[in-house]
Amino acid sequence: MTAEAKGAGLMIGVDVGGTKICALALNQKHEVLGRSRAKTGAEDGLDAVMERIEQCAIEAAKGAGGTMKDVVRLGIGIPGPVLPGTGTVIFAPNLGWDTVPVASIMSGRLKMPVMVGNDVNVGTWGEYIMGAGKGAKSVLGVFWGTGVGGGIVLNGKLLEGKNGTAAEIGHTLLKVGGRKCACGKRGCLEAYCGRLAIAADIGRAIRKGQTSVITELAKGNLNRIATGAIRKALVRDDAVVCKAIRRASRYLAEGIGSAVNLLGPDRVIIGGGVSELLEVDPSLMTYVQSKIRKRSIQESMRDVDIVLAKLGDDAVAVGAALLAESGTVS
Ligand SMILES: [Zn+2]
Repeated sequence: MTAEAKGAGLMIGVDVGGTKICALALNQKHEVLGRSRAKTGAEDGLDAVMERIEQCAIEAAKGAGGTMKDVVRLGIGIPGPVLPGTGTVIFAPNLGWDTVPVASIMSGRLKMPVMVGNDVNVGTWGEYIMGAGKGAKSVLGVFWGTGVGGGIVLNGKLLEGKNGTAAEIGHTLLKVGGRKCACGKRGCLEAYCGRLAIAADIGRAIRKGQTSVITELAKGNLNRIATGAIRKALVRDDAVVCKAIRRASRYLAEGIGSAVNLLGPDRVIIGGGVSELLEVDPSLMTYVQSKIRKRSIQESMRDVDIVLAKLGDDAVAVGAALLAESGTVS
């Protein structure tokens, strides 16, 4: 088989994050054949990031035994809302972008159709087609990380909303007049259960005099407690961390339960960096599932599965490639 034949009909998905860019090359059977990554370096300016996206795509195609000539579609996931039908990123705070027509810039550079979507929406699509959502009609994807993102597929269609801001479960209300959220509003779900909220809870308990292995794991810097340190402390059954995680899990479940009442999905998929803690301690997953069921009205939870995501860090890039293939977003 020649290199060209092996690489023919490739689809490339690119996940552009605040710190890194990851590209995957999939064949028509949806097998991942090539991958590459680079630092985002958003501080170097828009052109530099576009150049890195292109280079990552070229490297991924090469890894799949092809060149950009073998690539038929390219999709990109961006951490910010994308105006439906345009491929224009409205804003992306982690990248310092404000109104950037990513699809038109990249299709001009690459001379091929380019689709652009919000990263969590795109990641949910990836899980829906190839991961934990396989076989479901409608799914609610919740990505539990530094913040709390959401994605919704209803009857096979990704819900983007008029301004590309649909499914922002992290900014639905948990407590009227509650904690200040990164979005500027008060009482959002994310302000109670995102990684930053969990880290702040742990830091507060320690400052009040409670002892925790986090003091040692975070090397005394309680303002920067990473998920890795939280995971290690959970494995060691640290009381302060276990309590903070359980509380955050409860809040997350309350938010998901409300969303289930609103949407009536047939599957709920929980992914994101913090969700790995639910694998570390399966009793936590059982706890989250029971709290979601308790919060939802009984009928809306009948035969609804609550499962962990399967694609891990690949979800966004895989979803971007698949969305580009389906042509359902800009
Ligand atoms: Zn918010």
